[in-house]
Amino acid sequence: MLEIKNLHVNVADKPILKGLDLTIGAGEVHAIMGPNGAGKSTLGYALAGRDGYEVTEGSVTYKGRDLLEMEPDERAASGVFLAFQYPVEIPGVSNTTFLKSALNSIRKARGEKELDAMEFLKLIRAKTKQLGMTDEMLKRAVNVGFSGGEKKRNEVLQMAVLDPAFCVLDETDSGLDIDALRIVADGVNALRGPERGILVITHYQRLLDYIVPDKVHVLANGRIVRTGDKSLALELEEKGYAEFGVDEAA
Ligand code: ADP
Ligand code: MG
Ligand code: MG
Repeated sequence: MLEIKNLHVNVADKPILKGLDLTIGAGEVHAIMGPNGAGKSTLGYALAGRDGYEVTEGSVTYKGRDLLEMEPDERAASGVFLAFQYPVEIPGVSNTTFLKSALNSIRKARGEKELDAMEFLKLIRAKTKQLGMTDEMLKRAVNVGFSGGEKKRNEVLQMAVLDPAFCVLDETDSGLDIDALRIVADGVNALRGPERGILVITHYQRLLDYIVPDKVHVLANGRIVRTGDKSLALELEEKGYAEFGVDEAA
């Protein structure tokens, strides 16, 4: 589904990713862990096509297509979704309006018919309930005044509504208490399936107790330096990232 080869990405002319290789098959859930500042978010942004994340070398193939050649909106329309580490507030646009227009533009790009108001409401009500969110949160402006945990749930709500084929979740666990973490993890697990690839970026292994990954990778010094199964996450929690030449306190 996604094949990243020798990816180099500069941010503000500074090399951050320096030859990253990663392959994620359909139906797989992979986790990326790594110290602060390693470039985990940079990888997510580069895949989503955000401005300012300059790919200087390497390739990314998504469902057989050259992802890096695609505009950010084409990537979204073809099913690539990034749940932000720091979700964006959109004053003046209600959550419902935002979700509806995002969903319908993606459906249009896929050649599917737009949902009418009733169909759409039915869809989001079900997803909202599943994530323990209220209808009131749908009426409010996107993420405006939402707590950290509500913003994270809202990212997962967007993901559940848009039904993307490949999802990147960037530290969706940060700022969540244990109950919210479970709800968000259930929401993500509900999206697991043979057609979907999921990349979970996290700093803590706790999330991986709930979203059990097929593979765990360590990102340090701009590359994937180690790959293992869930036990690698437990090992990292115990030992930190020192063995990869990274001082967490730095
Ligand atoms: P992580 O998500 O692993 O904590 P990031 O991808 O956010 O790491 O950041 C990687 C590095 O890129 C950090 O050293 C960070 O300071 C730097 N960086 C990120 N965004 C910018 C920016 N807009 N300008 C300059 N440096 C940046
Ligand atoms: Mg960070
Ligand atoms: Mg980050």
